[in-house]
Amino acid sequence: MSILVVGSIAYDSVSTPNRMAQESLGGSATFFSLAASYFAPVSVVGVVGEDFRKEDLRMLQEHGIDTGGLIRRPGRTFRWVGEYGHDMNEAHTLDTQLNVFADFQPKLAAEARQPAYLFLANIDPDLQQAVIGQLQSWPRMVAGDTMNFWIQGKPDALAKVIGEVGTLMINEGELRLLTRETNMVKAARLVLSQGPTMLVVKRGEYGAVCFTQDDVFATPAYPLETVVDPTGAGDTFAGGFMGYLAATNDLSIGNVRRAMIVGSVMASFNVEDFGPGRLQALTTTAIQDRYRDFWRLTYFDGTGDRPLPRRKD
Ligand code: AMP
Repeated sequence: MSILVVGSIAYDSVSTPNRMAQESLGGSATFFSLAASYFAPVSVVGVVGEDFRKEDLRMLQEHGIDTGGLIRRPGRTFRWVGEYGHDMNEAHTLDTQLNVFADFQPKLAAEARQPAYLFLANIDPDLQQAVIGQLQSWPRMVAGDTMNFWIQGKPDALAKVIGEVGTLMINEGELRLLTRETNMVKAARLVLSQGPTMLVVKRGEYGAVCFTQDDVFATPAYPLETVVDPTGAGDTFAGGFMGYLAATNDLSIGNVRRAMIVGSVMASFNVEDFGPGRLQALTTTAIQDRYRDFWRLTYFDGTGDRPLPRRKD
């Protein structure tokens, strides 16, 4: 099954305690598409400016990503400037320039109006809604992401989108901000009462947790000695997660659990370099090997129902 994604395509300037990178290719749709492209066909809807580099477009196309819905407009591509302190789990936004996104109106081509899988990546919730409004049939899965900028800037539009998506994928800080609840379990229950049937909470180096009415599943993050740049890890996680679900077209709880691991695998690669440097150069062998590493990391034998030893003195 194929995936349609609408989201930002950006040039990011990012600094971490040790290094910095200027104007690397970024944006929620970019990281998502690249990660998902290893598993399933992806079409991207978004806008870039006149300054969008030819080699970046070519790189996306070389990954088999359908860029027919990526339009070029007069003006500059979206810019995001962010900084990480010693806590690499939290990005501090220094500057957001919407540029060509400021008056972008997504228009789905006739053949894109019945996607099987739809991902509304982090973008203005009004644009996410505009995409939903153009659907001719409801996809098998609609997932959405957002961030502080929109939670604080457009809460009403965002609430409407959250009421329509089946799956919400946000990070822990955003979940707190959205629900004003510090306890993750209570916050999850609140979100699951507002429309979504599944909530995936991304927790940076602490992994990710998936909540549904009947199940909770937690995956760790891959233990890496060096994290170069966490930008895009959440979108990459979502791309691996949804790419795997679309490829298998199986939304059972057991398969969703596997998809959580695949999301973690892809995110672990992404943080190893600035921008999509590592993500764009992956091999299926490297992905498969890390999936196996995750199996070892999370494997717990089948003794969960056996009594534990009791102290005998
Ligand atoms: P993540 O680290 O997965 O949360 O996503 C980081 C990406 O989100 C960066 O590549 C940014 O270009 C993009 N981004 C940052 N702010 C916004 C925003 N307000 N709207 C859409 N995308 C954004």
